[in-house]
Amino acid sequence: MTHRVHIAESDQMFEVASDETLLTAALRSNVNLAHDCQLGGCGTCRIKLLEGAVAYEEFPLALTPEEEAAGYALACQALPRSDLVIMPARAGIEAPETVRHAATVCSVVPASPLVTRLVLEVPNADHLDFLPGQHMNVIMPDGGTRSFSMASKPDGNRVDFHIRRVERGAFTERQLPGLKTGDVLDVELPLGSFHFHAEDYRPLLMVATGTGLAPIKSMLDALMDDPDCPPVSLYWGTRTAADLYIRDEIEAWKSRLYEFNYVPVLSRADAAWSGRRGYVQDAVGDDLPDLSEHAIYLCGSPEMISSAKQSFIARGASIEHIYSEGFLLGHDTAGR
Ligand SMILES: Cc1cc2nc3c(=O)[nH]c(=O)nc-3n(C[C@H](O)[C@H](O)[C@H](O)COP(=O)(O)OP(=O)(O)OC[C@H]3O[C@@H](n4cnc5c(N)ncnc54)[C@H](O)[C@@H]3O)c2cc1C
Repeated sequence: MTHRVHIAESDQMFEVASDETLLTAALRSNVNLAHDCQLGGCGTCRIKLLEGAVAYEEFPLALTPEEEAAGYALACQALPRSDLVIMPARAGIEAPETVRHAATVCSVVPASPLVTRLVLEVPNADHLDFLPGQHMNVIMPDGGTRSFSMASKPDGNRVDFHIRRVERGAFTERQLPGLKTGDVLDVELPLGSFHFHAEDYRPLLMVATGTGLAPIKSMLDALMDDPDCPPVSLYWGTRTAADLYIRDEIEAWKSRLYEFNYVPVLSRADAAWSGRRGYVQDAVGDDLPDLSEHAIYLCGSPEMISSAKQSFIARGASIEHIYSEGFLLGHDTAGR
């Protein structure tokens, strides 16, 4: 049995079989729906259901029951149960076009035992255009892609990345350590629907785990020295103190961001750590009982994001003001 899907904003239509996901059917019909991990973990393919119903074989990590009740769905996992009218989750700001580049490695520097800072330059571009928070794909020799978020603001043709090593990872463990200045990577950027929403002018609560800091840093870089910068709270969760890379840089943000409150939280701290312990989302919950006035940006582990959304919504946060991106580690899109 097939159902018809109508995209309200663009007036596009496509057919979807009852046993295939909305995203698979859209891509088969050359309808471009934003997506990334295709495993229900990153949340990029979030849509709003205006009419009709969907079901899931397994409820996806990047969707909360509250979001489902408010009419949201994840296109990469949703199976149609009727004809549907859908729209992108947010009427987005128009993102710059995705362009494939041969990018040159400017530097590869260890930032912590697990994280490397990689700086790339695109020699044939004057300016790399992206929205702070978006990511690039590295295109692997087998045609698969690996996603990494820009960690600096758009500024000329250079861009920074924070890359965590994944055990047995084809890029992060096997390729990255051997990269040298002048090597060339095949990349495409910008990609993704996670970006800063200047129009949502509210006190900012940014919550990251690990290298989920990267897109948050890109957003904060763009807000530095801005007289219209709203108050910023940054909660950053890592396992140990050694994982808190760019510590000194973050301390220096205090003088360049308005009312900047920075709280590192360690889940596996040793006895020497005198700061906050536990899960980063629990530390936010302890400190900020009322989140009804905040714009909230969550980035990093899908588990943190799922738990944070539920806890923050219970503290008054509005689904409409929560922006998130899950870093599903180790995804491999070859052959998809
Ligand atoms: C939108 C987006 C943005 C991202 N931005 C960043 C970023 O800025 N910085 C960053 O460090 N990462 C980021 N990631 C995560 C990053 O894309 C992956 O870590 C990366 O794809 C790893 O590539 P790899 O080739 O090294 O590993 P792969 O070769 O893809 O994976 C190696 C093997 O390890 C397994 N594996 C990997 N991780 C885990 C895990 N946590 N648990 C269990 N098994 C695992 C895989 O299943 C696979 O079998 C982002 C992800 C997304 C979706």
